Amino acid sequence: MEKDDFRQAAYAHADWIAGYFEQIRSFPVLPAIKPGELSSRLPPTAPEQGEPLEKIFQDFQSTIFPALTLWNHPRFFAWFSISSTPPSILADFLAATLNVNAMLWKSSPAATELEQVTLSWLRQWLGLSDQHFGIIYDTASVGVMQAIGAAREFVDPGCRTHGMRPGLIVYLSEHTHSSSEKAAITLGFGQQNIRKIPVDEQFRMRPDALARVIASDISAGRRPCCIVASIGSTSTTAIDPVTEIAAIAERHNVWLHLDAAYGGSAAIVPEMRYILAGVERAHSFILNPHKWLYVSVDCSVLYTRYPDILRRASSLSAEYLRTAEDDHAVNYMDYGVQLGRRFRALKLWYVFRYYGREGIIAMLRESLRLAQVLKELIESDDRFELSAPVPLSLACFRLRASNARNEQLLAAINASGKAFLSHTVLNGHFVLRLAIGNFQTSEQDILDTWDLIKETAEHLTAQVDPGGRALAGAEL
Ligand code: PLP
Repeated sequence: MEKDDFRQAAYAHADWIAGYFEQIRSFPVLPAIKPGELSSRLPPTAPEQGEPLEKIFQDFQSTIFPALTLWNHPRFFAWFSISSTPPSILADFLAATLNVNAMLWKSSPAATELEQVTLSWLRQWLGLSDQHFGIIYDTASVGVMQAIGAAREFVDPGCRTHGMRPGLIVYLSEHTHSSSEKAAITLGFGQQNIRKIPVDEQFRMRPDALARVIASDISAGRRPCCIVASIGSTSTTAIDPVTEIAAIAERHNVWLHLDAAYGGSAAIVPEMRYILAGVERAHSFILNPHKWLYVSVDCSVLYTRYPDILRRASSLSAEYLRTAEDDHAVNYMDYGVQLGRRFRALKLWYVFRYYGREGIIAMLRESLRLAQVLKELIESDDRFELSAPVPLSLACFRLRASNARNEQLLAAINASGKAFLSHTVLNGHFVLRLAIGNFQTSEQDILDTWDLIKETAEHLTAQVDPGGRALAGAEL
């Protein structure tokens, strides 16, 4: 590509990105598309000859873009609402340009040291002690696999040599994110060695039940290995009682991992710091900046007070990777299965510097406030019920009606393209989930979406009841 052609194309892409942010509310959040529809519109084989970039960019706009679910849309409320913000986008642009590989200090000194510096800044914002070693992985799914791998090395030192001993047990709650169970399966624990501890009426892990299950495993000759507690569980954002769980972990010398992938960011807000109570007693802790810290997918941070154990569980070098600096620099490849690592710290650095702690707190606080606005709207309409507490920025609610009717409601809202919500099941009830976390979501977005939800519910009822009787609980 000629230099000037690259420059023109880069300007054109930058213009498109800026326009995308300006017009984002005019696009449907969910595409009206069926599986296979896009593939059928694309050539089955790759081109023999190169094509002009303008044509590729044009096709992106006309064919690919309309087939996308818009995760950066202010009315994307499904799963966890996330944001790729302008400074993060620009940093990713630079990272792709540099294409450095942050596997060793030598392979990219600035990427390694910026990772240390930005994770130290974040650690301070969260009020964690400087004993916490931080590392960036792509996702929390990979991070929790590394954490459980370290837990195994903690309770069974040398298992990297002699192999995993039988009867090591991992403790989750019924509401722990599936990535923890998947990690334990991948590591070879076996699903029969995974315990799902029941939750209380607020969907928090019950320490009494955890203590009982651990005692029963010990008396049967098994070895408790790792407990995963959640700070902001996926279904409801429940915050497990970490202090009580930590006491149990300490009593039995079990590794305690905290999954704060979504919820952890809220602790940057001073009045929310309480959600991390007990974190200093955990062995490892995960927070995803790509969820609720304004950084593009992918970027997940793991902190541990036991970097040597993480290293023992994960490191394996080779002659061709040896460098003269090995003894006095961090080589991040030693703390995970990945050798090649993207320059993710650059987007943390851009975002942290651009917004500053105060700017980030203001954005987080606004999401927390909007969730309370939504909670009040739900509670003030007796056709609906709140299905779980709202400690962070997610509300779970349902029509006082059958599960089938709630499923129809969700499908109809999402088919409108005006907002995208997801669901979960709580105590046998199908429940709608509305998560707030996008940096552009405004109070008007919440009010309009609530109107959409009510109107859609009324419309569904009118279809069932053409007589037009008032929308009332039992008839929904
Ligand atoms: N933990 C929690 C609480 C989550 O909600 C999620 C995803 O939504 C994960 C872990 C997995 O995150 P990732 O997509 O980074 O693997």
